[in-house]
Amino acid sequence: MPMRFLAIGECMVEFSPTPSGTYAVGFAGDTFNTAWYASQLTDTEKLDVGYLSAVGDDALSGQLTDFIEAAGIRPLMATVPGAAPGMYMIFLSEGERSFQYWRSQSAARHLADDLTALETAGEGDLLYFSGITVAILAETARDRLLAALQAAAGRGAEIVFDPNLRPRLWPASDEMCRWTMKAASVAGIVLPSFEDEAGHFKDTDEAATAARYLANGARLVVVKNGAGPILVRGADGDSFQYQPEPASTVVDTTAAGDSFNAAFLVEYMERARTREAVRAGCALAAHVIGSRGALVPVTRMDLIACR
Ligand code: ADP
Repeated sequence: MPMRFLAIGECMVEFSPTPSGTYAVGFAGDTFNTAWYASQLTDTEKLDVGYLSAVGDDALSGQLTDFIEAAGIRPLMATVPGAAPGMYMIFLSEGERSFQYWRSQSAARHLADDLTALETAGEGDLLYFSGITVAILAETARDRLLAALQAAAGRGAEIVFDPNLRPRLWPASDEMCRWTMKAASVAGIVLPSFEDEAGHFKDTDEAATAARYLANGARLVVVKNGAGPILVRGADGDSFQYQPEPASTVVDTTAAGDSFNAAFLVEYMERARTREAVRAGCALAAHVIGSRGALVPVTRMDLIACR
């Protein structure tokens, strides 16, 4: 039986500009990016990667589901009649990217309506979600999702949370911070990014971020920090810093954290060796920031570097 890696969240339709002035249609979203990289890094006999979300019954939803399946990811998608996926458009102006989103009515906001896929999760399974997953849900749906994750943790599943703080998805910063800590409390592993955390939780350094999540119940906290050193703190006293290799080229940092999480978790699930897992995360993130876009293909050679 392969191990199961189940990511939960929203995958959106992406419209990105092409050099000829037209727009290309793609698909991306934080938790989905992580599932996509996890699926690229291993084969289906070893790891069964799934994506739990909700789509509508329109043509774009059909394309999104086909894309997920073609990437070797099992779609666990409820269908919401009359709804459509969230979307965003990328604008390029003198090399700077800006984004416009249409996601306030997206089908993924109903992803917690059907959580039967989580009922069989237990020992050997990893369930991955983020602060964005939590942000897009109604309050009752958040509670339902967190209860289902907690129950799965009780059956031995590993719950992993990336806070991915996005203030514009929340009515107020204190509400975002309160739900972030509540969501993190069901997770054994928390993978925050220091810059976001410092801005909203007033952490003075990476150690403060790690200490806050450890005190909140985490077993392992990995604090990412862009090009700076990564801090790893375990409730068992395991503690070290890891300096990522300087990236040879930084083209686009989109999905740096998402790809880091994928390689870290795939390696950690297989060998439970934290330092090797951090190294794998850094290698994949360095590859991803060297090219444009959220989903950067991983070749055999990149795979050797990342594993
Ligand atoms: P996020 O995308 O969540 O904001 P970070 O910016 O902290 O995450 O980056 C995640 C990881 O990507 C880092 O831990 C590091 O491994 C890698 N990374 C990001 N920026 C750089 C960089 N300029 N040089 C080398 N590695 C980087």
